[in-house]
Amino acid sequence: MSSTLRFQVVGEAFKKKPLEIPNRDERPSEFFAKYVFNRQKMFKYLPSKVYEKMCDVMDNGTTLDLQTADAVAEGMKRWAMELGATHCTHWFQPLTEGTAEKHDGFVEHDWKGGMVEEFTGKALVQQEPDASSFPSGGIRSTFEARGYSAWDPASPVFVIGDTLMIPTVFISYTGEALDYKAPLKKALKAVNEAAVDVASYFYDDVTKVVSNLGWEQEYFLVDEGLYAARPDLLMTGRTLMGHDSAKNQQMDDHYFGSIPRRVAAFMKDLEIQALELGIPCKTRHNEVAPNQFELAPIFEETNLAVDHNMLMMSLMRDVARKHGFRCLLHEKPFAGINGSGKHCNWSLSTNTGVLLHAPGKTPMDNLRFVTFVVETLMGVYRHNGLLKGSIISATNAHRLGANEAPPAIISSFLGKQLTDLLTALEESDDNQLFNLGGKQALSLDIPQVPELLLDNTDRNRTSPFAFTGNRFEFRAVGSSANCAAAMIVLNAAVAEALADFKRRVDARIAETAAKYEGTEHTAKYHAIIDVLREDIKACKPIHFEGNGYSEEWKEEAKRRGLDVEQSAPRMFLQYLAPESIEMFRKTGVLTEAELEARTDIKLETYTKKIQIEARIFGDLCLNHIIPVATRYQSQLIDNVHRVSEIFPAEEAREVSQNNLKLIKQISEHTSFITENVERLIDARRVANRIGSESERAVAYHDTVAPLLEQIRYHVDKLELIVDDELWPLPKYREMLFIR
Ligand code: ADP
Ligand code: MG
Repeated sequence: MSSTLRFQVVGEAFKKKPLEIPNRDERPSEFFAKYVFNRQKMFKYLPSKVYEKMCDVMDNGTTLDLQTADAVAEGMKRWAMELGATHCTHWFQPLTEGTAEKHDGFVEHDWKGGMVEEFTGKALVQQEPDASSFPSGGIRSTFEARGYSAWDPASPVFVIGDTLMIPTVFISYTGEALDYKAPLKKALKAVNEAAVDVASYFYDDVTKVVSNLGWEQEYFLVDEGLYAARPDLLMTGRTLMGHDSAKNQQMDDHYFGSIPRRVAAFMKDLEIQALELGIPCKTRHNEVAPNQFELAPIFEETNLAVDHNMLMMSLMRDVARKHGFRCLLHEKPFAGINGSGKHCNWSLSTNTGVLLHAPGKTPMDNLRFVTFVVETLMGVYRHNGLLKGSIISATNAHRLGANEAPPAIISSFLGKQLTDLLTALEESDDNQLFNLGGKQALSLDIPQVPELLLDNTDRNRTSPFAFTGNRFEFRAVGSSANCAAAMIVLNAAVAEALADFKRRVDARIAETAAKYEGTEHTAKYHAIIDVLREDIKACKPIHFEGNGYSEEWKEEAKRRGLDVEQSAPRMFLQYLAPESIEMFRKTGVLTEAELEARTDIKLETYTKKIQIEARIFGDLCLNHIIPVATRYQSQLIDNVHRVSEIFPAEEAREVSQNNLKLIKQISEHTSFITENVERLIDARRVANRIGSESERAVAYHDTVAPLLEQIRYHVDKLELIVDDELWPLPKYREMLFIR
């Protein structure tokens, strides 16, 4: 871009007027889920028998027969056509980022020479998208390209524009998962079963345990014109070069600051559309970095929450464009300021109440609370490396481990009250805990957990997995990620821990039954507390209350045996660690073949991302930066010559002192850039020749990625030297402050 064009673009960006802040006469409760075929619509559009069958499918996971599916499809079609829908699509989440869809019209031959609108149960339940170009990690070779998408009735269908969208899982012809949703649903089933078993120690009436997810989506907005003038942003989602703006976030004035009007109009528009699609948006605010914002809905059942997050990310991109913005979901679009994450608030609840909640009403409730907290910690402790593997990516790697986001070590913060409670339980002896005067007098002297625990004021922001009152907040998830990846691992790991807990408690009850003969309850509680004591001790290494950003923690974590691996491609390999394979097998979530395929895809995606960055970066250096720096240097040289023409030699040297210095500096920077871009190309060439997917990704990590950073330093120095009018790319200070 020429300098004139750059100033035009920048000028336009600052002149932009906000679209009108959209206004609705109806209240959100009136238009909420307007475009969703939820229970209310089902009740209205389906025959009552069919409606009841659907409720059974949704509530109890029973299978849907084709006859019922036909009847459901008929009602759905009627509803969708009333909203103007003409097409339908199966909407799925392949192992790339984002979602995929294939649209089919409702039309069919009427066999009288005309057409009828038709939508059958079979079309609702199953589709065969030609899926050979979705990543499968070699599971489905291209000649056997059949992959099925199958309706997930747990997530209601919705209408966007003229299309009926049907949430589906995506599996190969031979039954392997090719998406995030299939294993997620299995992990949710596993945690449900294991948690119901454990909850039944405490309550008689628990039949179902639901995993909840409340995500908080962070994002950046930039002006569309400026975005278009940054090839790096356009192609990779982040700026590969750019010097810090003189002012960025050091004043902390953006966080919870007032929202600029242009942004407010965008947010309002986005929220209305999201509410209409049944996403229960609740909070919005500015984030720490300039131009950074956050949006969070009320938590929902995890499977639905994941779908809603995927839908929200595409809505955000769409609505942003309407308002002349681009929405950046990359974890680190700008160096030097905070990146974006997606905190995942996770909890378990039953058909009768919340499991991670400590009401402190009865000792039983407290023991149940401690059990679920401790077994969650056990799962996280055993699979801390894998959890990290589930959230790491080429893009999230820029955020993790930097002093702004969770460190690249998984640990859990519990707060003082909960820590004290666990210590008390661990150190207490049976006599303190029990009054063994018979069933009636049985009382557990666990300190009553006060309601105060719900207050999360002392939250430790440096902790990647913090207890925050009635849930855990997993903060290491990246803003662009499908949160299913983390939710699969977390729910499966907790399911494994709970099942293991149950097995040990049962064995102990059997062992001690004779001792407590006639007092079955006492035997049970002794067993539970014994096993809990063991586990509180065992999972201690994961519990950390201190500053996760400190250097000492890295050392300490290593001593504790936690996973301290820093490089993304090596973290992916955690999926293939024997204890991971075993955990996924036991919980029935993923087979070894599926794990291998997934790991391959992660590695390949990593390599491709760095490869694309390196190519674009090289081009920008050679075609944009070097020519401009050289042009400016020539101008300086010209000036030095002219000065020497009019001044005597001695004086001329003095007058040109500064320019001579700049000429030299420019030479130093440009030669560094030129030489190292060549090294960058060589490093890629060498890496590309490596046969093994994992070794290639490691080579990209170790040899290609660091060069980008090293060269960037010199480009950013040039940005400070070269005449602003010549500089070819919009600068940070221009991109980062929407007015
Ligand atoms: P903060 O930014 O302070 O962490 P927010 O209010 O932005 O908090 O987000 C909190 C998120 O946690 C919301 O999505 C909320 O719905 C969710 N949440 C609240 N309670 C639970 C729970 N029991 N289980 C899961 N998520 C929850
Ligand atoms: Mg949060």
